[in-house]
Amino acid sequence: MSTSKLEKRKRSKRRKIQKSKPSLEVHFPPNGIISMLIAVAEVYPKEAFGTVYGKRVGDRFLVKGVVPYQLVNRTRSSVERDDKHFAVMNRILCSLERYKQVGLWHSHPYGQSQKCNATPSQLDIETTDSESLEIIIALRPAKKKTRWHYSTWSKTLTGTFDKYYVRIRAFYKPHENAQRLRRCEISTDYQGL
Ligand SMILES: [Zn+2]
Repeated sequence: MSTSKLEKRKRSKRRKIQKSKPSLEVHFPPNGIISMLIAVAEVYPKEAFGTVYGKRVGDRFLVKGVVPYQLVNRTRSSVERDDKHFAVMNRILCSLERYKQVGLWHSHPYGQSQKCNATPSQLDIETTDSESLEIIIALRPAKKKTRWHYSTWSKTLTGTFDKYYVRIRAFYKPHENAQRLRRCEISTDYQGL
């Protein structure tokens, strides 16, 4: 191969490497996923909402636990936090010595004939804090039981829990004015769910 061809090939390889951003990954302990699933199933068909705490190590978020917010006003399509109790939760989370709040989670409950959409709404994008995670759990009554599986292509964890069909995705807001949230890889031992 001529030197110029080799140079060209090297350059295009470099461009490709620069283009593809490293994927962010969110690692959940199985009990973190189970806690969210119980909380969303408990209040279905209303929305559930909570916090995710853990730590960030490079491009990985290591989730230690998830907690639902208990004092909220719920409807089928929204969940409003109570500012006073939200402040109390923030104080408690800030008092953790080894971990911090790395994001929030909420559910998208649907009826049986509806599409189970785990995509952030415009409001979700606007209300996510910058450099923070937003986990979305979409659910609807299941037609049949399915095993849990993870699609690396769509970065979606899917399966049935209790009597619901569930789709889970994790997103990240890179900066305050971001118009889109970045989809993250999810890693967890889902065989045990
Ligand atoms: Zn939402």
